[in-house]
Amino acid sequence: MGALQAEIQRRGERIFELVDEHPEPLFSKAGFYQRMMALSMRDEQFKVQLFRFVDVLASLHRGTDIVQHLDEYFADMRNGYAPLIRTGVRAAKILPFISGQVLRWNVSGMARQFIAGRNPEDVMRTLRKRRTQGIGFTVDILGEAVVSEQEANEYASRCLELLEHLGRETRGWSDPVGKNADLFPVVNLSVKISALYSQMNPADPADAIAHLAPKLRPILRRARDLGAFVNFDMESFAHKNSTLELFKMLFTEPEFRDWPQIGIVIQAYLRDAEDDLRDLLSWGRERGTRFAVRLVKGAYWDFEQIKSRQNGWGSPVFLQKPESDLNFEVLTRILLENESIVTAAFGSHNVRSIAHAQALADQLGIDHSRFEFQLLYGMAGPVKRALVEMGYRVREYSPVGELLPGMAYLVRRLLENTSNEGFLRAKFSDNVSETKLLRDPAELVAQSSDGARHLAVNRDSASLDTPPDDIYENAPLVNFVYQQNQDRMRDALAQVRTQLGQKYPLVINGSRVWTDKTIASINPSSPDIVVGHVAEAGIPEAERAVKAARTAFEKWKRTPFETRCRLLERVADIMHRRRYELSALEVYEVGKAWAEADGDIREAMDFCLFYAHQMRSIGRPRLTQYVLGEESYRHYWPRGVALIIAPWNFPLAILSGMTTAALVTGNTVIMKPAEQSAVVGARLMEIFEEAGVPPGVLNYLPGKGSVMGAHLVDHKDVDLIAFTGSREVGLRIFESAGKTKEGQRQLKHVICEMGGKNAVIIDADADLDEAVVDTIYSAFGYQGQKCSACSRLIILEDIYPRAMERLMNAAASLRVGNPEQPGITVGPVIDGTAHKRILEYIEIGKKESRLAFQRGAVPEKGFFIPPTIFTNVDPKAKIACEEIFGPVLSVIKARDLDDAFEIANSTEFALTAGFFSRSPANIERAKAELVAGNVYINRSCTGAVVGRHPFGGFKMSGGGTKAGGADYLLHFAVPRVVTENITRHGFAPETTPEFRDEFLGPR
Ligand SMILES: Cc1cc2nc3c(=O)[nH]c(=O)nc-3n(C[C@H](O)[C@H](O)[C@H](O)COP(=O)(O)OP(=O)(O)OC[C@H]3O[C@@H](n4cnc5c(N)ncnc54)[C@H](O)[C@@H]3O)c2cc1C
Repeated sequence: MGALQAEIQRRGERIFELVDEHPEPLFSKAGFYQRMMALSMRDEQFKVQLFRFVDVLASLHRGTDIVQHLDEYFADMRNGYAPLIRTGVRAAKILPFISGQVLRWNVSGMARQFIAGRNPEDVMRTLRKRRTQGIGFTVDILGEAVVSEQEANEYASRCLELLEHLGRETRGWSDPVGKNADLFPVVNLSVKISALYSQMNPADPADAIAHLAPKLRPILRRARDLGAFVNFDMESFAHKNSTLELFKMLFTEPEFRDWPQIGIVIQAYLRDAEDDLRDLLSWGRERGTRFAVRLVKGAYWDFEQIKSRQNGWGSPVFLQKPESDLNFEVLTRILLENESIVTAAFGSHNVRSIAHAQALADQLGIDHSRFEFQLLYGMAGPVKRALVEMGYRVREYSPVGELLPGMAYLVRRLLENTSNEGFLRAKFSDNVSETKLLRDPAELVAQSSDGARHLAVNRDSASLDTPPDDIYENAPLVNFVYQQNQDRMRDALAQVRTQLGQKYPLVINGSRVWTDKTIASINPSSPDIVVGHVAEAGIPEAERAVKAARTAFEKWKRTPFETRCRLLERVADIMHRRRYELSALEVYEVGKAWAEADGDIREAMDFCLFYAHQMRSIGRPRLTQYVLGEESYRHYWPRGVALIIAPWNFPLAILSGMTTAALVTGNTVIMKPAEQSAVVGARLMEIFEEAGVPPGVLNYLPGKGSVMGAHLVDHKDVDLIAFTGSREVGLRIFESAGKTKEGQRQLKHVICEMGGKNAVIIDADADLDEAVVDTIYSAFGYQGQKCSACSRLIILEDIYPRAMERLMNAAASLRVGNPEQPGITVGPVIDGTAHKRILEYIEIGKKESRLAFQRGAVPEKGFFIPPTIFTNVDPKAKIACEEIFGPVLSVIKARDLDDAFEIANSTEFALTAGFFSRSPANIERAKAELVAGNVYINRSCTGAVVGRHPFGGFKMSGGGTKAGGADYLLHFAVPRVVTENITRHGFAPETTPEFRDEFLGPR
């Protein structure tokens, strides 16, 4: 054992000795809380239910509601405590008013264990008590989820008020250690940066900084005048870079450049923490004034894991707990070695991490009064006491606020306290030995990387049992948190700008075809800019395309499906290579915001890869049943010539999705993009050509839907029509295709995806932090021009006033503008016709209902429509029944849940529906009763992911097909079964192969 390790061991043992002098269980508050936590640690299912119940409780006001939720969360638990819990629930039901209040009181007690005070006056009691124990404080105001600028401004004023109060109340307080006191002001405020600006977008740190800096400066000035210290807390990874940049920018300003009483958090669980810390240190040296860093492991590990997995991103956090511990030690060394410029605060409850910092500081000759330990209020009390006794400086992180905004914080603390991986549970609950607790994390990292290898092997074999579509891994989204990705997008926008105005020919039978007429595709943000001129196909070109596709079909249908799958995969590769360029083009051509454009490219890639994957699973003739003496093989033949008619709102994804499904199943295709997005269509054709699509197999044919499109729909040689667009056109196609033309070989098959009038319901107990943000995004993201968009919001009476207030403030805070700028949520609508039509609907709305909110100024140039909200909307009103396809939201108040479901289901459409609730019973009802192809619970109702959320509606929204689903390809093919009697005079072979390939394609 090296000298440092020996010293860590010695220090650690000393801390434990002191801790054991005043033993305290993990959950110091006796009674209800202790019992709940003990149960949680024994039973994962109980823990989930308990934390969910705690999460909803603060928003419940009536005793009956509380007891009702208690029943729903716990009555059906299938564990050893079920009878006990059921008895409790039954008892609670007898006098719901009283039991509701008792429960509330108990859970408030739980929260009070972690929340130091409800308001500035209240918290002073705690701070005074700590002062007598030699413990300092940093105060944090709870309330991180701000959904509007109004809420952000309120947070800023509360910070100022708190500062004033603390300054006044702590006058005359002295430093508990009494040495180097100038480095550690008594008043210390921790600020959550995201609570100061509601529109923080990782893609646009400059905008975040431009909004945050003016809000922070008055707080900083006041803090400096009062001699206080201000710390920037660190939150999710998405906000990390903006927070660091903001910190450096503000404190380089002449006004604050020589102010040392400032600090920021570095999270050791992040893989790039070391780079960030080194960067901060060189910034600090250049600045020439001391600053502080609070080193922590990090509080959002589960969230980061979930988010990165869902989006296909590499995890920003370490995956093994000892890696975080080891990194904490690496960063501790860097901090202490740079003590001349940075003051370190070690934010940990882990005795090993603390002992390491102590031992290393000694080894480097740093006096223990020059750094401090920080621990959370309500946690690790004995460790705090021990550190004070050892003469170290201890500061307690003390959250202030009401129960409701404190819930997220409380749940984080509960998770941390009960985590299998956590130090506190290991020491104070599971009684893990001191030797184990003081082990060097470096040794554990080495051991656990072996473990990780085993895990990978197991995962592969586990996949054998999972259904085939489950193992599809989606293409990742671009993560605009990274500066390099922001730069690539900016470069692509500049590059694509130089290509605007080019001309694009039709492609028929592999040849470029120019026509007399062209379609000018314009930029909806700047209608004077032409994105491209695309040759317009007329009837003669349509005829040529059908002929080419018909001829090419003969060979394509016999091309092995593996060849067709590989074509799709090459297309996805090229899209990946040209990803930023394609996104930039969408920004110009259809007014998509960066992330929306990237989402469209990702979806297009997913369609290619997913359909290739699906085709491999249905491509070979497969035995239907094993029966002695007979063989039956089911397999699929292509239908023939497919006409693809796509919309402009997902210009690459929907066009590629329908096209690739048709091609991979062996059909040949005439691809007609929307006129408004014909340049994206031309790029897709280019990509297919580069990928090697044979001549005639895919033909690019932009033109007028009403003329050339209608001609093709009626054409006797077109066998299949895949359409996505408006109900009006969809129904016309459906009808036309139903009439058999002379010479037609087969029934035309129509795949028809149409619009929606999608409803989102906000239940009385919904989490408004989520419901408001997700509804705003569902209604106004991409200007409401998604068929999945929320256009009717149904709010339960009980929660209506609060939900509406927050919703309107959130809508007022949205960033509206030219989506060339990063971080814009609402851009222009697609063209002048749409602009006019939507404005007409707004006029109708003003007559039919109450205009509750309309955004003020929007850019004058371009087809911008201000986000608009109507209330008092009659469910039968025009604006509540017709698809508007713009940023217009109709809000309807519902008496109760029955009323809400009835309103939601009362339209002719059935595409998407959303439901926000924390009542398990109501959630179950919504799952069963909402009439929509895609029902989303507690999340936005847009943003379907290929494979994960097969997408499509029924009723007047479509024929029930599911793009991106396992059965989608079957619509592009005719199923066939070949049966052979293999018995000869009573004798039959005993084995039959599962697959045969002989009759794969028609001869
Ligand atoms: C005063 C103070 C202020 C804080 N401020 C912030 C802040 O601004 N921002 C912030 O994010 N956090 C902050 N934290 C940290 C956070 O809230 C936790 O308290 C802290 O991470 C717990 O670490 P520990 O050393 O006490 O416990 P330990 O039990 O040793 O470590 C637990 C930590 O390990 C990490 N971990 C768990 N499982 C894994 C795994 N499988 N792989 C990798 N890592 C894993 C997690 O980060 C977890 O929190 C603060 C903590 C304190 C004490």
